[in-house]
Amino acid sequence: MYWDRAAETMDRRDLERLQLERLNATLQRAAHAPYYRDLHGARGAGPLPSLVDIAGLPFTTKADLRDHFPYGFLAVPMEDVVRLHSSSGTTGNPTVIYHTRADIEAWADLAARSMYMTGVRKADVFQNMMGYGLFTGGIGLHYGAERLGALTIPIGPGNSKRQLWFMRQFRTTVVHILPSYALRLATFFAETSIDPRKDLALRIAFIGAEPHTEETRRRIEQVWGIKVYNSYGLSEMCGPGVAFECPEQNGMHLWEDHFILEIVDPDTGRVLPEGEWGELVLTSLARAATPLIRYRTRDLTRILPGPCACGRTHRRIDRIRGRSDDMLIINGVNLFPMQVERTLMREPAIGSNYLIEVHEENFMDRLHVKVELRQEAFEGTLAELEHLAARVTDELTAELGVTPVVKLLEAGSLPAAEGKAVRVVDLRKSGGKGA
Ligand code: ADP
Ligand code: ZN
Repeated sequence: MYWDRAAETMDRRDLERLQLERLNATLQRAAHAPYYRDLHGARGAGPLPSLVDIAGLPFTTKADLRDHFPYGFLAVPMEDVVRLHSSSGTTGNPTVIYHTRADIEAWADLAARSMYMTGVRKADVFQNMMGYGLFTGGIGLHYGAERLGALTIPIGPGNSKRQLWFMRQFRTTVVHILPSYALRLATFFAETSIDPRKDLALRIAFIGAEPHTEETRRRIEQVWGIKVYNSYGLSEMCGPGVAFECPEQNGMHLWEDHFILEIVDPDTGRVLPEGEWGELVLTSLARAATPLIRYRTRDLTRILPGPCACGRTHRRIDRIRGRSDDMLIINGVNLFPMQVERTLMREPAIGSNYLIEVHEENFMDRLHVKVELRQEAFEGTLAELEHLAARVTDELTAELGVTPVVKLLEAGSLPAAEGKAVRVVDLRKSGGKGA
């Protein structure tokens, strides 16, 4: 039941000793990267006498990665690098993360460990519907599945008809998919009269790469008739395989032999105690080409206290609530897009896609929530639709503390991204960054 029993169930004291050892080795290696050499000096920031001393080191941010593009964070000779991944970089320089052969192997092993934990075995057929390319989502679990020995189908996202054909043809048992696409595919099953329980061999799905709620997971589990596990990762820390749910489905074990986990107050940077919500900060412990120290992920979560019944000793983080930079301020009220999703997914008549728009009307912010309904919902009377709109408005008002304008739409009327879903469009002149 464990891919690597010794690593996964290591006694906390041994695990922390290993972390300190690896942290000090990382600090030394990082001194070869121009950015950290300038920051800490040629001898590096260590050795630190204990793990808590990491709080004395400065953070690394996405802006630092951008500003020191392309080689500022490279800590090995270029000839030892076998791959790079890069983020799109819609503003300014992209960010780039380099990997040595050993980095890739360690990442593949974490991905295999994560998938094995949920019950994936050699005999499984793994259909990988995540994007490949510079994005780490697809290729990350691809390597993990091959290492595990499962038959891997690198199909990528989109083209639901073809996805379905492959699922039937090769009796796919495990999929890796964006939650937004899993919802849309559920609608496609319904339209084509496919009953996944009867017509398909699916057992497990991994969803990740974008924020989603517990309600969304449950909905996918119900419609698909399978177990759905949350998978967390980011390119800066390799990609998927950083934190993953075990069969207990009570938060994601963050692989602490490879990363140091801290939660900090996003405003002050102060380290927060277990259980408190804040920004996840990660330090890589086993990476050679691009070691990162105290990287601010901007992802909001908390450490879940207490041990897990599965026997793994690595601490668990809660479902990502959103990014510190995707909080919306509507007439002074703070809210997160996930609060909207949570409310919507509880309503059975609501379909698989929604969009939040923020408008400026008469110098006031106005929240518009556009939601697609299931086909059946339109078969009712107009009065029923009005009643539904009123109910959804009330529920959103109760959750958010502001009253949105709710627009009910037919299935397929909102834009559907092939990559990560775009859930918020801010049309205010200030862009919501304070007027
Ligand atoms: P970006 O989206 O910044 O271009 P990545 O492709 O590396 O970069 O995506 C990593 C980000 O995706 C994470 O920082 C997080 O915001 C989001 N993400 C990844 N997995 C999850 C998950 N399981 N739940 C919520 N958000 C996730
Ligand atoms: Zn567990």
